[in-house]
Amino acid sequence: MEFEERRKILIDSLKINGISDRVLDAMMRVPRHLFIPERLQETAYMDMPLPIGHDQTISAPHMVAIMCELLDISSGMKILEVGSGSGYNAAIMAELVGDEGHIYTVERIPELAYFAEKNLKRAGYRNVTVLQDDGSCGLAKHAPYERISVTSAAPEVPRPLIDQLAPEGIMAIPVGNGEQQLVVVKKDMKGKVSYKSWGAVIFVPLIGKYGY
Ligand code: SAM
Repeated sequence: MEFEERRKILIDSLKINGISDRVLDAMMRVPRHLFIPERLQETAYMDMPLPIGHDQTISAPHMVAIMCELLDISSGMKILEVGSGSGYNAAIMAELVGDEGHIYTVERIPELAYFAEKNLKRAGYRNVTVLQDDGSCGLAKHAPYERISVTSAAPEVPRPLIDQLAPEGIMAIPVGNGEQQLVVVKKDMKGKVSYKSWGAVIFVPLIGKYGY
């Protein structure tokens, strides 16, 4: 079966999670097989995390879909991602913000920052900037962000990320050690912050000044 056909079957299967057509269409446009090591390409369209080296993983497609859905991403938005990994989630968010928007994605491990950048370039994304740094401190240079997507689990929501979230902004972040919860953080127009738990998840740990 061709990659595109496999991708369609995978994306169709995600509909049961209540994912919108807008997110599903974006996922249909991103070739996940270009974001994993070549030897694993046959498994690219299975709904599971896959190893990308350095003890890290590309998240399962349903998790990427759920986080994008919770973030309610519109075209033109400026988004910060913490944990570039393979660059796949950044590519999907890049599809959702379009040419008018921009994704800044920060990766702690230099080899993975290079891997993500290479994959994104090969897949043709121009509206994504990959930076190698400790993303638990956010990325003050380009703040504030309308959305923040954190793809590794923090002990608590890092203060710098709350500060760098724009008014009316939304952040999705896994929180906890062992038992993790995906937390949706919202900031209102006046800067008041609220927290809501979506449910249990499993992510690799956020390592850094405001991480583990
Ligand atoms: N979003 C990625 C993708 O689409 O492939 C998956 C990310 S993987 C589940 C989590 C990533 O977070 C790993 O690549 C890990 O190195 C990174 N990470 C952990 N702590 C970090 C930190 N403080 N700053 C930036 N990246 C971090």
